[in-house]
Amino acid sequence: MTACECCGNTYDKAFEISIGGTTHTFDSFQCAINVLAPRCLHCKVPIIGQGMEARGQYFCCAHCARQAGIQEVVDRAPDRGVAAP
Ligand SMILES: [Zn+2]
Ligand SMILES: [Zn+2]
Repeated sequence: MTACECCGNTYDKAFEISIGGTTHTFDSFQCAINVLAPRCLHCKVPIIGQGMEARGQYFCCAHCARQAGIQEVVDRAPDRGVAAP
């Protein structure tokens, strides 16, 4: 059994994740997120959804991107008067 590269635990249900040409072993998604998930440039939370990318940096949301001076990203498309309230 291979040890989790985050916490060192050896676990019979450990799994591998291949990313960026390298393979990593973890005992839990929590450990995988801690090691592999990109961090929001502004608030530093691990980004476990799609997140946002701008100027080569990752952000968790439009608010955090704006804090870094990126104005182009928004939370939603403009309401053209057809969306339900
Ligand atoms: Zn672990
Ligand atoms: Zn953030």
